Formats: sequence, C-alpha cells, structure tokens
Amino acid sequence: MKIVVDEERCEANGICMRAAPEAFRVDDDDRLHLLVTDVPSELRAKVERAVRDCPRGALSLTER
Ligand code: SF4
Repeated sequence: MKIVVDEERCEANGICMRAAPEAFRVDDDDRLHLLVTDVPSELRAKVERAVRDCPRGALSLTER
C-alpha cells in the first residue's frame, strides 16, 4: 500500500503528521514529506486515520 498526496490540495497543516508521525513530516518550510513509500502493516491503521483526518482530502491510498 502506498500513500498518494495531492499537492494541489495539501496546505501543510500537519494534521496527518500528528496522526502518523512515522509516515508524514511537515518541515520548517511547510512542505509535506512522506517518510515511507510502502506502508508497513503495523502503520496501516495510523495512516488510514491520517487519510480520514486530512481536512483537505489530499491523501489517498493505493495498493500499487
Ligand atoms: S493533513 Fe492533509 S492538508 Fe494537512 S499536511 Fe497532511 S496531507 Fe496536507
């Protein structure tokens, strides 16, 4: 499972980072970085929560 970010929608508010800090990081320049490419199974629930919590609908998951 991979994370897809719609950079047009992301406003770098860091909500996903709070839900899953192992997978998301917003840097000092307000840019979102993904810390994992393939989401390991132990992070899946946190990442799914981050996707749900994103107020901009900027995150999605793909099985590829
Ligand atoms: S929660 Fe959504 S809008 Fe906020 S930083 Fe994460 S992807 Fe961007």
